[in-house]
Amino acid sequence: MHELVERLLKGDKRAAAFDFFNSWAGIKHGDRSLGIGLIHSRPATRKAFDLAMRRHHLSVLNINKNNIVQVCSRLAQMKLDVIGGNSLAISWIAMIAKHNGIKIRPKKAVISTQHMLPSRQLLEDAFGCPVFNRYGSFEVGGAIAQNCPGSDKLHVNTELCILEIVDEEGNFCAPGQRGRVVVTDLNNWVMPFIRYDTEDGATAGEPCPCRRTFPVIEHLEPRLAQYIKTPSGNKIASGTLGYLLFIANDYMSYFVKCQAIQTSLNEVTFNFVPLQPVTQGLLSRLSADLRLLLGGEINVEINVVDDIPAAPSGKLEIIKSELEPRAIG
Ligand SMILES: [Zn+2]
Repeated sequence: MHELVERLLKGDKRAAAFDFFNSWAGIKHGDRSLGIGLIHSRPATRKAFDLAMRRHHLSVLNINKNNIVQVCSRLAQMKLDVIGGNSLAISWIAMIAKHNGIKIRPKKAVISTQHMLPSRQLLEDAFGCPVFNRYGSFEVGGAIAQNCPGSDKLHVNTELCILEIVDEEGNFCAPGQRGRVVVTDLNNWVMPFIRYDTEDGATAGEPCPCRRTFPVIEHLEPRLAQYIKTPSGNKIASGTLGYLLFIANDYMSYFVKCQAIQTSLNEVTFNFVPLQPVTQGLLSRLSADLRLLLGGEINVEINVVDDIPAAPSGKLEIIKSELEPRAIG
């Protein structure tokens, strides 16, 4: 029997958390789904389970400028109920499909995880279905929070963990106040995580009009560690950079992959793998947008590259910092 099914039967709350949030989108076991991720290969045991559960998997690392349009066309022909996975990868596919007039139409929902770009409306326009942003944690495991239908507010699953948003001194943040997320895992009896600092930034929220009584996160900025630090002390998070590139602008239709590397406090190298022939106009526009985002304090060098390797974790990082940890703090 597959591990996930065993865990559900044993009452594992982490496994149940996925089902719980899936139910808000009307998703059931056996729905035809596509998972878009940043991992190259799936273990053989997962492939067999995926087949039985009508799950498909697509790695963004296997997509390049030569096959992206064909990949989108193939997705448009698939009868899917759900598309889920990395928010940047999903946003990229949405932009390419929209740019080429390709209609990818999952019947039930899109579940977007990880970078949590504020792209719900854009994705709903592109895929023609409800979009849910889901917040998870590798350390805690499971789905910690998700927005309810039609809202951007994230509801915390209090059966899984205690989630607190605290300020620099560790005090609770009031609604509207920005702090960082600390979690206490309620289901790990082997390695206790008590008030574990996730390094994710968040703004506490007022209760949601949907009347779900779970605590509310108004806005989330995952991984404060993934940011560019400016000489004046500002922090540009990966979500903010992603928003500039792919939501506020249309760079997603020009890039296959991209990465900003902070090499010193006032130097950033921006590498991208082009999807189309690179023009001087594109480079000038990109340079101006990045300088504006970084407050004019950082020199930006733009390079067109053949590929951007994934991090040792297997993930593609949109921001990589080479600053000493002390300089980041
Ligand atoms: Zn709600």
